[in-house]
Amino acid sequence: MSTSYNVQQTAVIGAGTMGRGIVISLARAGLPVLWLDNDPSATEAGLAMLAQTWAQQVGKGRIDQAQADACLARVRQVTAYTELAEADLVIEAVYENLALKQEIFRTLDSTLKPEAILASNTSALDIDAIAAVTGRPEQVLGLHFFSPAHVMKLLEVVRGQLTAPAVLDAAVALGQRMGKEVVVAGNCPGFIGNRMLRTYVAEARQLLLEGATPRQVDEALQGFGFAMGPFRMYDVVGIDLEWRARQLAGEGMDAPLVQVDNALCALGRFGQKVGQGYYRYAPGSREALHDPEVDALVLKIAQDLDVRRRVIDDEEIRERCLLALVNEGAKILEQGIASGSQDIDRVYLHGYGFPAETGGPMCWADRQGLGVLLARLERLQGLFGEHWRPAGLLMRLVAAGKRLADVSEGRA
Ligand code: NAD
Repeated sequence: MSTSYNVQQTAVIGAGTMGRGIVISLARAGLPVLWLDNDPSATEAGLAMLAQTWAQQVGKGRIDQAQADACLARVRQVTAYTELAEADLVIEAVYENLALKQEIFRTLDSTLKPEAILASNTSALDIDAIAAVTGRPEQVLGLHFFSPAHVMKLLEVVRGQLTAPAVLDAAVALGQRMGKEVVVAGNCPGFIGNRMLRTYVAEARQLLLEGATPRQVDEALQGFGFAMGPFRMYDVVGIDLEWRARQLAGEGMDAPLVQVDNALCALGRFGQKVGQGYYRYAPGSREALHDPEVDALVLKIAQDLDVRRRVIDDEEIRERCLLALVNEGAKILEQGIASGSQDIDRVYLHGYGFPAETGGPMCWADRQGLGVLLARLERLQGLFGEHWRPAGLLMRLVAAGKRLADVSEGRA
């Protein structure tokens, strides 16, 4: 088997939100794309959206008509896996379901040429479990794009346990050719970005139950410089996405922290797209308006869960959400999921709207002084429990007088 991979012909499986953005990014980078969805009307609608996107770019003077025509000509709809036989690299972007993705990877493995690279755009599934159903696990990896994929700069390249270095190199080179900010991440639930986000969102949700309002949490974090607070973000992305994933997986529905989301979704309050979520929206407007119905719903759930309510100030909101992010980032670094703190910073700056002037969450932590942060984490651990236990790496760095930026490949 050749150890260097030359990616020329690409293919994308899935013509939904992510598939469309990925196809645009590939074609814009000059790569031919074969495009397959089991619902041909999705690919057809996708092609119409591509044409519209490039026509708008022509209208704005960003590209000329010949470039738009060339981009569209690079994309070819196919309806059978046998038509993908010559692809050098395939990116799968179908529903977030392990069994479905495994079935597709089995088919790809048996149809594509032996040297083809197989990638998944999964947000959180186990890349090794996907690779394991193929006869070529060293050629399987994650290519985690962010939504909308043709706009967002970040690309997490997820290394499976068996992914060959040359395959990783080819994927990084492809991402760079697409103009992406490429970060290599290890394989763990949520990779770098979403794994950290989970801890941050958990604090935001807990703060609601303890007495803060969605607007207060969002404004405190926007005051820090985030492009968008967590509840506005959920309204934009759609509260129902995670809710449906919980239902599909048949797990996680009972967790106390998702009870507000569950209740909002049960009322059809999926977010901005339906005019109501954590906020309400006037028809045709994106302005997030305070909704007393949500406050009443949160209060009822907090009472049902027996959570003690109190007045919460903005400083506590920033402290808990930011320190949760940093502590998880330190664990990610310690476990070698990220090879340096700068990579974690790039993920947060380019994929999650972390304020640019801070340099990213890990750089921000170094600037605060790790000794100060460690003391604050220990205080939170005493107040709220074991999930605040500081990462061992932070303790070692403080003892050695070092910074997160001094850590390389998981070692200080
Ligand atoms: P989507 O629901 O918009 O689109 C999924 C597409 O897959 C649909 O067009 C569907 O027809 C097609 N499909 C389903 N089964 C298929 C099959 N057997 N063969 C071929 N096509 C099939 O989903 P999405 O939001 O584009 O998400 C796709 C993947 O990207 C998921 O794994 C998701 O977790 C991941 N992701 C999503 C986002 C996001 O913000 N939407 C961000 C990053 C990653």
